[in-house]
Amino acid sequence: MSQKLLKLIFKENISPSSDIYHFQRSDSSPFEFVGGQYVILNTGNDSEGKAIKRAYSIMSSDSKTDSFQICVKRLGTGKASSILPELKLGDELEYSGPWGKFAGDPTWPSPGFSLILATDTGITSLIGLLLSKKFSGRLDSTTAVWFKTKEEDFISEKLIRTILPGISNFPNIFQIPSISDPNRVSTVLEILRSILGDCTVPENAFLSGDGNIIREVRSELVRLGTLESRIGMETFFNTQRNPSPTLSLGV
Ligand SMILES: Cc1cc2nc3c(=O)[nH]c(=O)nc-3n(C[C@H](O)[C@H](O)[C@H](O)COP(=O)(O)OP(=O)(O)OC[C@H]3O[C@@H](n4cnc5c(N)ncnc54)[C@H](O)[C@@H]3O)c2cc1C
Repeated sequence: MSQKLLKLIFKENISPSSDIYHFQRSDSSPFEFVGGQYVILNTGNDSEGKAIKRAYSIMSSDSKTDSFQICVKRLGTGKASSILPELKLGDELEYSGPWGKFAGDPTWPSPGFSLILATDTGITSLIGLLLSKKFSGRLDSTTAVWFKTKEEDFISEKLIRTILPGISNFPNIFQIPSISDPNRVSTVLEILRSILGDCTVPENAFLSGDGNIIREVRSELVRLGTLESRIGMETFFNTQRNPSPTLSLGV
């Protein structure tokens, strides 16, 4: 099978810790995808010769297929996120995708209230969904929420307003404790309960970002009555549940 390549056509440094990259297919054919989906980029090999392949959610609208955008956080020691800022215009990367069967499912979302919830860098898939064709006719029945730390400068509120012009559902933004803080998950659950209050239980939900948070949010939604099959999840980090501490039964 021939290699699939993307060409970098534009990049913008939008904060000390993040960059937006615009890619098009190297053969200039349309890049078809559905809002909420992601691509896997092969950014090169590490020192052991292993390919550094990482997933990035597409942040631009799926009605535009000549190019698409991703936003990547510079993680300091991160492998791919250190290589990407060094790319020059015209550079090519091998890729696969678009991936994300759940977002791509034409039967989702079903009619009714939808909740799109993101933490941290998960805001990229939230934006991709709000800009998508499938949500364009249902924004009135959609609530979008972004949980971020006080220090997070990934995408500014001002830039989100520029990216989402005319979208009435600007995400409600809430500050939460840092990734290592033990109160992080409980803070999110508390805010979530206050948002949902007595209103209808979401028929559909899409959750993205910190796995430790979104696994708990999913459980909470299921407890409230949302069908598990209508909840999509993309864990950007903390993908594995932390192993339970070894139980000592004592003797
Ligand atoms: C479906 C999907 C979509 C994604 N979309 C995006 C996106 O739109 N933008 C984006 O920047 N990243 C996104 N990611 C994360 C991305 O794939 C990489 O994990 C990230 O860029 C770090 O790769 P790295 O090689 O630089 O770091 P690595 O060398 O892999 O190591 C960095 C460590 O940091 C952790 N990490 C990853 N993201 C964060 C974060 N936000 N905060 C704290 N720690 C983190 C990783 O789990 C890892 O343990 C997505 C991940 C998935 C699974």
